[in-house]
Amino acid sequence: EKFKDGLEKTRTSFQDKVNDVMSKYRKVDEEFFEELEEAFIAGDVGVTTTMHLIDKLKEEVRRQNIQDPADVRELIVETLAKMFDDGQAEQIKINESGLTVVLFVGVNGVGKTTTIGKLAHQLKSEGKSVLLAAGDTFRAGAIEQLDRWGERAGVGVIKQASGSDPAAVMFDAIQAAKSRQVDVLLCDTAGRLQNKVNLMNELEKVKRVISREVPGAPHDVFLVLDATTGQNALSQAKTFKASTDVSGIVLTKLDGTAKGGIVMAIRHELGIPVRYIGLGEKIDDLQPFDSTQFVYGLFA
Ligand code: GDP
Repeated sequence: EKFKDGLEKTRTSFQDKVNDVMSKYRKVDEEFFEELEEAFIAGDVGVTTTMHLIDKLKEEVRRQNIQDPADVRELIVETLAKMFDDGQAEQIKINESGLTVVLFVGVNGVGKTTTIGKLAHQLKSEGKSVLLAAGDTFRAGAIEQLDRWGERAGVGVIKQASGSDPAAVMFDAIQAAKSRQVDVLLCDTAGRLQNKVNLMNELEKVKRVISREVPGAPHDVFLVLDATTGQNALSQAKTFKASTDVSGIVLTKLDGTAKGGIVMAIRHELGIPVRYIGLGEKIDDLQPFDSTQFVYGLFA
């Protein structure tokens, strides 16, 4: 239900665009496809992904000898469902033999802190013990904000003074997590992109400490992206992917945007699975992503 409501703007805008094209054309021809292509690009599906979709559609239209634009609608759903057939995304990878460490990366304001709070709440309600690491020592207010989410979720937060070394915070947090026998440590990081090189170096240092202290960790590195930024989210993903291993994407703020088509661009162009989606600002507004549900939801 929350998923359906959250996707409302994207769905309406998508359907309006596609329906417009359908109703404008009497037969399926080159112009029809051109306009359909424009509709998908305008829906933030991305040029590369749209081209791929249109090629597949043309192939099927020829093969099935489809003449009526109205019949293409069904074909779009089928084709997208085939392109995005991951189904329900994997939840965080749990280290069965000890501490699980999850690292959150992404630029300021995308919803990292909020997502950590939501996930802490979810894990806790599944019976796991959780600790948070305040690794964003750079942005004013970031530590306090994580503290508040810790309180809300009822989990501890390991922090140092603002401006301290994030790698030292991670070291502390891991020692604390081990001595308290915590199941999952969720680590916040800084997101200033003004100085990309420094940021990436800092992330590498943080990762080195984590993997030295917990072999095999971090078990997941989640890149958090803000869906309302559309194509900008895609270019952020490319930047991060180029310099750090990302195991999954958390796409936030899908509830407030018509740009949800970006989910497909991210999956198709980057090959990184969307693992969770944010559908609001409240503690239970985080859901595991399901690509099949997403595709059918767009055309429901
Ligand atoms: P950070 O700088 O990456 O840690 O971002 P924050 O966690 O501080 O989030 C920035 C803003 O986005 C806050 O006002 C959040 O309430 C809001 N936000 C985060 N996730 C979502 C979401 O899924 N939906 C909506 N509508 N707002 C969100």
